[in-house]
Amino acid sequence: MAKLPAKKRPAKVETKSVIRKKLMEAAKTAQKKAYCPYSRYPVGAAVLMDSGRIYTGCNVENASFGLAICAERVAIFKAVSHGEKRVKALCVAAKSAKPCGACRQVIIEFADKDAEMIYLDWQPLEKKEKVTITKAGKLLPHAFDPSEAGL
Ligand SMILES: [Zn+2]
Repeated sequence: MAKLPAKKRPAKVETKSVIRKKLMEAAKTAQKKAYCPYSRYPVGAAVLMDSGRIYTGCNVENASFGLAICAERVAIFKAVSHGEKRVKALCVAAKSAKPCGACRQVIIEFADKDAEMIYLDWQPLEKKEKVTITKAGKLLPHAFDPSEAGL
């Protein structure tokens, strides 16, 4: 079968690419809102829920350091507070972007194993980016699984 020209490809492939771009742009925009006067490490996140809506978050620090919260959890908790329950895809944008262990456990609570995780490693002043894509099921080996615990 001949390869279809770009214009004739199924919309689903194009949509996934468009969604990735939307998530990455939303995460970058959210990163600009980070409140990080102590670490000076701004992080943005964007999460696509199964409703099709995108919610964003940034890290929010506090002088009492233990009260800080990561961008990924802000985005997911915003979505949940709007009645959303399932993560279809998540993007985190920062220098050396990857979710921490606490965020990985929260992501697993709300994401199917095949939900797409996008790490957008970028530094605005250097204008370079590295995109890594993985699946939620690979985030945290031997994660606490509420369904296995009968919860
Ligand atoms: Zn985190």
